[in-house]
Amino acid sequence: MAEIVFDGITKTYAGRAAVRNLNLRVGSGELLCLLGPSGCGKTTSLRMLAGFVTPDAGDIRLDGGSLLRLGPEARPTAMVFQRYTLWPHMNVFHNVAFGLKLRRVPAREVVRRVGRALALVGLPGYELRLPAQLSGGQQQRVALARALVIEPRVLLLDEPLSSLDAKLRAGLRQEIRGIVRELGITTVFVTHDQEEALSVADRIAVMRDGDLEQVAPPGMLYAQPTTRFVADFIGQMNFLPGVVSGREVRAGELHFAVDGDLGLGGPVEVAVRPEDFAFGPGGAPAQVLGVADLGHYREVRARLGEGAVSVFVGKGEAAPASGAGLHVRRALLYAGGRLVGEARPVGALAAERR
Ligand code: ATP
Repeated sequence: MAEIVFDGITKTYAGRAAVRNLNLRVGSGELLCLLGPSGCGKTTSLRMLAGFVTPDAGDIRLDGGSLLRLGPEARPTAMVFQRYTLWPHMNVFHNVAFGLKLRRVPAREVVRRVGRALALVGLPGYELRLPAQLSGGQQQRVALARALVIEPRVLLLDEPLSSLDAKLRAGLRQEIRGIVRELGITTVFVTHDQEEALSVADRIAVMRDGDLEQVAPPGMLYAQPTTRFVADFIGQMNFLPGVVSGREVRAGELHFAVDGDLGLGGPVEVAVRPEDFAFGPGGAPAQVLGVADLGHYREVRARLGEGAVSVFVGKGEAAPASGAGLHVRRALLYAGGRLVGEARPVGALAAERR
């Protein structure tokens, strides 16, 4: 068991909150990503958990016991940093063994555990190499082995892959996910890369300006973003100005119905994912402005009313014919920056709904 609870955690620097009243639970064995733009408070939150930064208010508990009285070395946490932090003059064995020697683990046990940690990260037999003789990806694997070898109860990853190229990142993040799964270790993974978070996390906590915006599994975060910020930050989203009256919503030529009373009238933002548009006869008049071929799908820019929208068209689907209109499969409604409901297309627009 290793459940973490941030309970009303606040950290202020020079009168400005880096993290404001953070309430967040990380389940035992869970891989939670802290995601958000630069400066939103991700690293500060991680550092408070590691013990490098002391919060001004609130508590951080591990299985119900406060961690705040413990210094970083006394906490059952291990951290992997963004840049390679291996000692250049020490070989891989000594780099990985370092934490065990500090803990006065017997020599034979050290050899066994280092060997096991290196096998876990896919580098068996690399003990005698120096860091300079390793690729960037291999160096980050050694850094991960060094964190895992002490058998921490909580693994903290601070943008561990951001210095690697895109292909290597994608492979290594799945390996990390596999390893922490296998070990059942509670993991907090800081990243500003939404694709990375969506692909590795059990749940994602999105932060903005020191506030927690939403915590949800990746699929739910994408399908039901509870704030406009999250809707815009995760994936692509088109926002169209709309007006609610009763159970109807209009956004230019697009006409929707909502289930139940939203309890509001007047302006809303109608949010549509690019893949929730479809071209077809009878839709809202749209004019194709440009098409980008992105490999497995095409992104079409189209003029719709006063604005322009992005539409994803699958490779198997026909390119929009001239005169084809735009249909919507699904839309979300935001008012005052918050999700207020979901809208279904009605009338002619609904005919093409899949
Ligand atoms: P990044 O992705 O750029 O690392 P982040 O989301 O991790 O960003 P933090 O590093 O947690 O953000 O910083 C949050 C805010 O707190 C920022 O405005 C930052 O400038 C400020 N901050 C962080 N550490 C300190 C510090 N030691 N002294 C003063 N201000 C700080």
